[in-house]
Amino acid sequence: MIPLEDNFFRVIDYLRLSVTDRCNLRCVYCMPASGLQPFDHSDILSYEEIIRIVRVAARLGVRKVRITGGEPLTRKNLSFLVSSLKKIEGIEDLSMTTNGILLDKYAQELSAAGLDRVNISLDSFNPDRYRQITRGGDLSDVLRGIEAAEKAGLRPLKINMVPLRGVNDDEIEQFARMTLGSEYHFRFIEFMPSGVIDTWEPGKYITTEEMKEIIGKKIGPLTPVKLRKNGPSKYFRLQGAKGVIGFISALSHHFCGECNRLRLTSEGKLRPCLFSETEIDLRSPLRTGADDAEIERLLRLSIAVKPEGHNINAAMSELPGPGRQHNFSKRPMPRIGG
Ligand code: SAM
Ligand code: SF4
Repeated sequence: MIPLEDNFFRVIDYLRLSVTDRCNLRCVYCMPASGLQPFDHSDILSYEEIIRIVRVAARLGVRKVRITGGEPLTRKNLSFLVSSLKKIEGIEDLSMTTNGILLDKYAQELSAAGLDRVNISLDSFNPDRYRQITRGGDLSDVLRGIEAAEKAGLRPLKINMVPLRGVNDDEIEQFARMTLGSEYHFRFIEFMPSGVIDTWEPGKYITTEEMKEIIGKKIGPLTPVKLRKNGPSKYFRLQGAKGVIGFISALSHHFCGECNRLRLTSEGKLRPCLFSETEIDLRSPLRTGADDAEIERLLRLSIAVKPEGHNINAAMSELPGPGRQHNFSKRPMPRIGG
């Protein structure tokens, strides 16, 4: 079988699966306060449909699968999906991105089902601020979730923070310092325009360079480290630190040249690039009797149309503020699977 290679010689071996567009939080940078109109259950791919797509993708060389959303833990019986994906020949790495609110309840079960590791989104260690950023989340739930993930062996545990100017940027130092005594990976994700008008505010955007400068000045120099599976993160270590600090710089540094991923939205659209509107529908073919060869053709087609890169940072200075339409991804992040 010819592996999934795109027109720019990138081998695609990573599939991000959004299993739901629903979420139990309303993070200010991701969702409007009123939430999003959820898709009907019948519009969402069933677990059986997802498993079938992953099976074909694995035959074409996909090795890594990440379950995301929306909030994946709001979907019922997720451990069934996990155990089924884990059994697919070729899948070597099965992970999940979660806000951690329900992780205390499910970590053990998911680990037993075959989940390898989790990334947990946590934007503040201050309970009031956490509640404000997530519009209602309880920090203690996430902290319990982290503990449960640790106990369940879901490692390496990665904590993701989106620093926003004037909101939680004063915690960049604290997050970075945590790597001194903890083996967790603390990762800073640059704020991105996510498709929901009103969540993007250029004034709140902080570049990776600025974050590094803050850490360098307040704590000490960052030494680059090469981890086995880096993905789009660039990793660094503070002197003597147990853990590492990662930066995901979608806007300030293109990592398109190294992009090895494909996304599947919860209603069955293949999305070759987070920042491009190009989508290929898999749900209709699946529901009208497409055979595996047709699914393979559509997977290959989505790789063939994968753009070489996005150019949204070229237009950074023109990014509109809240209340105005922007031309970047029109699909909100929870509907793509960030
Ligand atoms: N609900 C889960 C969570 O929060 O981890 C998974 C889905 S969420 C869309 C996946 C990741 O996207 C989270 O780490 C979140 O912080 C990030 N994200 C969402 N909106 C973003 C934005 N506008 N800019 C940067 N990162 C964003
Ligand atoms: Fe929900 Fe995750 Fe978006 Fe927050 S970042 S609103 S937890 S989907």
